[in-house]
Amino acid sequence: PSAAGRLRVCILGSTGSIGTSTLDVLARHPQAYEVTTLTAHGRIDELAAQCLTWRPRQAVVARADQAADLQQRLRAAGLSTEVLHGADALCQVAADPGTDAVMAAIVGAAGLPPCLAAARAGKRLMLANKEAIVLGGALFMNAVKAGGATLLPIDSEHSAIFQCLPEDRSTWASRIDHIVLTASGGPFRERDPATLASVTPDQACAHPNWVMGRKISVDSATMMNKALEVIEARWLFDLRPEQVRVVLHPQSIIHSMVVCRDNSVLAQMGTPDMRVPIAYGLSWPARIESGASRLDFLGLKPLTFEPADERRYPGLMLAWQALRAREGSTAVLNASNEVAVEAFLAGRLRFDQIAALNADLLARLAVPETAASSVEGLLALDQETRALARQRVLELAA
Ligand code: NAD
Ligand code: MG
Repeated sequence: PSAAGRLRVCILGSTGSIGTSTLDVLARHPQAYEVTTLTAHGRIDELAAQCLTWRPRQAVVARADQAADLQQRLRAAGLSTEVLHGADALCQVAADPGTDAVMAAIVGAAGLPPCLAAARAGKRLMLANKEAIVLGGALFMNAVKAGGATLLPIDSEHSAIFQCLPEDRSTWASRIDHIVLTASGGPFRERDPATLASVTPDQACAHPNWVMGRKISVDSATMMNKALEVIEARWLFDLRPEQVRVVLHPQSIIHSMVVCRDNSVLAQMGTPDMRVPIAYGLSWPARIESGASRLDFLGLKPLTFEPADERRYPGLMLAWQALRAREGSTAVLNASNEVAVEAFLAGRLRFDQIAALNADLLARLAVPETAASSVEGLLALDQETRALARQRVLELAA
């Protein structure tokens, strides 16, 4: 902590949905936390405004020209913030001895290297960036262990499971029979699956219960988000693939459940507001005010549950398929999906082709035996998958 006893926080991806919600929580607790680092990939105006409010020691942007521009603007405003740029700078600030905690809120595989840097440096690592753990797998978890980092899940389902479990991790395996991740079903839960081919990006991004970045919104509509979360849960809680199950719960009030050996079920509930898992990540094992509204039980609609229809969500089962295949296959699934979502958002791929492309890549790409044993191997596999997926997108469009 700082000399004033405040926890020093670095936010990777501070201009995004999770990044801004994190700042919203931090603004409620100026005595307990300070912001040392803010980073963004685009939207430099927003980052500049955040810097003026939070006066971080460091800021990171993507390119040198953006860095020069931001540096000049901040100097003119009397700030001594050091502006860095590029992927290596993200790793540098994530491991900086002047920060205690890192909020990993970058979207996509680009977040893996800084997450690993924070893990190896033994930080309190608040993980929203699920693609990083889906790509990193065992390697990610080993880096956390080796670095002595404290890994705190921010994804609402995983925070829910974490909140239902005791602090002592060594007791988890003997308590858990399986876990149930809840899923809202996204905006197309009641739409005729035969019409999914004509869905537009804006329709896919209109989530019924959560306001989020565009990538995760599309993932929620295809339920690839839940597929990534199944893989994420496997690693976070050290479970076998069959110990992770999914049920649709359209109201998003129960955020997930642990089914214990004795069939006692522990569930975590609340209004759907990411500030709750964010606040818990910041304050664990204590609790702080989050800004979320309280659940009004008497005003609640009935809580309902239904199975996830495989015809509507053909991408979901790819999670278990990838987990049972050679290690590294989850990296293929993630990279393929990132390319597919990008192409869909750009109007180059149909909505129903996202899951088809992912299934195709998973089936066709031969994962080298040693791919998952090094970061270089995983990143090479990630790149190889992206190249093949982009080629498939072109072929499908032709
Ligand atoms: P977002 O698109 O709103 O924000 C992403 C942030 O990362 C931005 O600050 C952006 O500038 C930065 N960024 C994007 N690409 C980058 C790159 N290549 N290098 C460096 N920085 C980059 O996304 P979000 O909705 O806040 O989601 C962030 C992560 O949290 C995702 O992995 C998502 O799955 C996860 N998550 C989000 C929510 C949610 O409610 N939004 C819930 C659970 C998990
Ligand atoms: Mg989630």
